[in-house]
Amino acid sequence: MNRKKLKETDAEIFKTIREELKRQEYGLEMIPSENFVSRAVMEAMGSVMTNKYSEGYPGKRYYGGNEFIDIAENIAIERVKKLFNVAHANVQPYSGSPANAAVYLALCKPHEVIMGQSLPDGGHLTHGWKTSFSGLFFNAIQYHVKTDGYIDFEEARSLAREHKPKLIWVGASAYVRSFPFREMAEIADEVGAYLVADIAHVAGLIVGGAHPSASEHAHIITTTTHKTLRGPRGALIMVTEKGLRKDPELAEKIDKAVFPGFQGGPHDHTIAAIAVALQEADSPEFKEYAHQVVANAKALAQELMDNGLKLVSGGTDNHLILADLTPIQKGHGVFAQEALEAAGITVNKNTIPQDPSSPFYPSGIRIGTPALTTRGMKEEEMKQIGKWMAAAINETAKYKLPEEKEERKELLKKFKNEIKRNKTLKQIKKDVKELCKRFPLYAKK
Ligand SMILES: *Cc1c(COP(=O)(O)O)cnc(C)c1O
Repeated sequence: MNRKKLKETDAEIFKTIREELKRQEYGLEMIPSENFVSRAVMEAMGSVMTNKYSEGYPGKRYYGGNEFIDIAENIAIERVKKLFNVAHANVQPYSGSPANAAVYLALCKPHEVIMGQSLPDGGHLTHGWKTSFSGLFFNAIQYHVKTDGYIDFEEARSLAREHKPKLIWVGASAYVRSFPFREMAEIADEVGAYLVADIAHVAGLIVGGAHPSASEHAHIITTTTHKTLRGPRGALIMVTEKGLRKDPELAEKIDKAVFPGFQGGPHDHTIAAIAVALQEADSPEFKEYAHQVVANAKALAQELMDNGLKLVSGGTDNHLILADLTPIQKGHGVFAQEALEAAGITVNKNTIPQDPSSPFYPSGIRIGTPALTTRGMKEEEMKQIGKWMAAAINETAKYKLPEEKEERKELLKKFKNEIKRNKTLKQIKKDVKELCKRFPLYAKK
């Protein structure tokens, strides 16, 4: 048994983890799907629970020695049921995509019709996009958003009537408005489809009362646990009362699809950490956090617009902002992402509705406030950050993406070199570091 510390056994990885910690500590993390877990969540993640095999479910395992694993999994399940107001919960999916795959396995045969929000319109790969298993193994119909950024119900309804999908997804990865659970439920109920709400991005907001709940409208709810919910990387599948009324066997179908249908042994250390995160989320402090995430996003959106940036849908209802950079140039997302990174601000390039460019060279960037809010930042900091972001993006205005592939490579190389030496960006990076020091993450104050 090797009892040495990581520092003593693997200097290379130890150093890399330290560098990553520094990056997180002294930069502004503004990718909307990311967050910072508590020490308690990390402690559970790094516990001896990782050593166990426990295929099956509490009380029905294929391996011995699961007395305490059963206790932890049952605690996690009960906490999910209470927090999300659902009848049944499966806490074993390895992550969001495998959770969604298990839902398909529970409900659909290969090549049956399913419907979801298109990826370039903010939807997720697993909701039927052509390069994903969900688009390859099923007959996937995609609905879209209108130019104002809101979901096009007219289109969704007529597609549903025409194609009669077995399953309809509501939920997305780059949607700045509240998810219309009620409206999509009406469409699903009309055609007899299962409505699955994928609340991966807004789960923490829902639990904290800062976004409407899906539990009265959807039959099934899936979510990741590592985004606004602020837990470890994992996922949940929930069956609602409405789901059980439609199909009394739905809970068993979901459990069978997760194991043995799609997965083997659950990640027990993750499940223990999910339980810890759910307890943290069941608190007045977390409610305050969820509301502050939204208040911060609104303040940041306003500041960006005041500084001349165009936003998809002209603002936000949640934790997420989509900047439309087409006024600078189509396909400009990559320039903005790189310049912001040089300034110590991490975001991701993203398509905008009806993007005139391509998914690899999209015309927007996606910005989020969950991680910064965890650090304790509020509206005042958002205003400062909005000014820095606008100034950083301004530094990219003279670079235009050429149509020709080889020319693109050349220009991007030149851009990256110049951006590294850019004085404005260097100054912002220094200022960012000073701000971060005032809101320590894992470092001591
Ligand atoms: C993030 C996300 C997922 C997938 O989660 P992974 O853990 O990355 O597999 C699924 N659906 C939506 C809407 C998401 O935003």
